[in-house]
Amino acid sequence: MSVFDAVIVGGGIIGASAASHLAAAGFSTVLLEQGDFAGATSGRSSRLQHCGLTYFSPGRSLANFLFHPKLALHSIDHAARSMRERSAFVRATPERVRPLTFFAPLYKDGSIPVWKARLGLNLLEKLDPGGVSLDIRHIPPAEVRHHPALTHLRDAGDLYGVLSFTEYQFDWPERICLDTILHARDAGAVTRNYVRVDKVERTSDQFWTVTAVDLRTDLAFTVKAKAFVNAAGAWIDHVARAGNLPIPRLNQGAKGTNIMVRLPEAFRGQGFETIMRDGDPFYVIPWDDLHYFGPMDAAVEPTAENFRTRDEEISHLLAEMNHLFPTLQLGRKDVLYTWSGVRPRTFDPQAPMGGMTSELHDFSRRGVPAYVTYSGGLIMTHRHAGRAITAAVGSQIQPSGASRPLTYAARPPITGPQDTDELPMAAIRHGATHEDARTLTDMLFRRVKTGWGERMGADTVDDVADGVRDITGWSAAEARRQAGDYRDFLAREFNFPLANS
Ligand SMILES: Cc1cc2nc3c(=O)[nH]c(=O)nc-3n(C[C@H](O)[C@H](O)[C@H](O)COP(=O)(O)OP(=O)(O)OC[C@H]3O[C@@H](n4cnc5c(N)ncnc54)[C@H](O)[C@@H]3O)c2cc1C
Repeated sequence: MSVFDAVIVGGGIIGASAASHLAAAGFSTVLLEQGDFAGATSGRSSRLQHCGLTYFSPGRSLANFLFHPKLALHSIDHAARSMRERSAFVRATPERVRPLTFFAPLYKDGSIPVWKARLGLNLLEKLDPGGVSLDIRHIPPAEVRHHPALTHLRDAGDLYGVLSFTEYQFDWPERICLDTILHARDAGAVTRNYVRVDKVERTSDQFWTVTAVDLRTDLAFTVKAKAFVNAAGAWIDHVARAGNLPIPRLNQGAKGTNIMVRLPEAFRGQGFETIMRDGDPFYVIPWDDLHYFGPMDAAVEPTAENFRTRDEEISHLLAEMNHLFPTLQLGRKDVLYTWSGVRPRTFDPQAPMGGMTSELHDFSRRGVPAYVTYSGGLIMTHRHAGRAITAAVGSQIQPSGASRPLTYAARPPITGPQDTDELPMAAIRHGATHEDARTLTDMLFRRVKTGWGERMGADTVDDVADGVRDITGWSAAEARRQAGDYRDFLAREFNFPLANS
């Protein structure tokens, strides 16, 4: 049986960050993930290194803040954290983010009060002195009327103007998670995908004993560790239950959905941030020459079904998009594909969709020693989460090894003579050989970005399956079957219209 300082359950962005920070701090670490790394919620996001404006969103009225000073403090604290992490990420890992100009339309109906938007953005800049600028600019109505994309906004006569500012987009979160896993591995961590944790026990020898099963071989095994890190995202309560641990409910799942479309050329590279008619945030986000919009909120459990988009959700988001831009009149035929995920939110009995806070929970003083969990973790603040988890583990156990340099660098791109414009074949083959990619989905969504293109790799997946046969050991027939499974996956999970493929 292997013995470690720390065992991490969950190989999404929070578990990956915990692994790289713990390993760099000298803790011998093992990370166990039941699917592929970043294959769950971390691979279904809106990809924003968001500036934190959402923490001052309209639902959080001034009165709400005045009557709930704790909420106000939490919001300001999280907004400041978002801004600091934004600056730090942009400076440390510029290859994995890109700046986007975002517009927030300011209507006279007060859906987003002008004073509040300005106050929020200016406060954000003040919370991160010396940080990466938001480049805030007020575009007056006269200028809006001549702007190629803004002329598509509804009710131009009712606009006080539009605020523009710079948001950053992760390009792309799954690869950031993979890079982080590989940094952890370089620092000595053992990281395993397709391993499900079934049982967690605090044994009499003062160790955590974790029973897991390798899902490729169906073989069970156990690992022991002095500290247990529950980074299972929307499943943190399930993992706690697998240990019968006296830990209260910590998670509330919240479903989010995005729809990918191609907008007119005038929109290229331009993002929008506003609120839906029901008061929820609404984003229209560029993605190369496409756009996606969403995300919607619904309280749900993290079931496979809730990682798929329902027809009503598509209709709702199309209606909001057409309300914002009546000239577009988007319909189902314009939907290239959709994606949904279940966000882990911190359980809060007062907030049906879960609280907006990201929180570390350390249960050592409540009878569960060396058990650390993280609720409501976000991609945009994952490095903060990794540091917090490592500090909490370090407050309870000593690292068995020496510390090593911590790196946030992007892994250098892998290229080769077999690459074409459509297929980065060298990187795909590298992923299958050195980065634990087992399936075509692992390869095309999380080792390279082909899966997130307009055609989602549907047209090239046969070539990919053939091109990795010498690595995977697939026969020609098996390669066809794997490619077919990949296309079925696109239709089932992303509403990708296979009929047109
Ligand atoms: C539509 C949408 C838009 C979003 N937009 C943004 C955004 O713009 N910016 C942003 O920062 N965040 C965004 N988020 C939120 C963000 O994606 C998540 O909060 C974040 O990815 C959570 O990371 P995680 O590591 O906690 O969870 P996950 O990525 O879900 O990782 C948890 C992992 O634990 C594994 N696991 C669970 N149980 C077990 C077990 N028993 N054994 C082994 N492994 C197990 C799961 O398989 C999973 O891979 C968005 C989310 C959605 C759905």
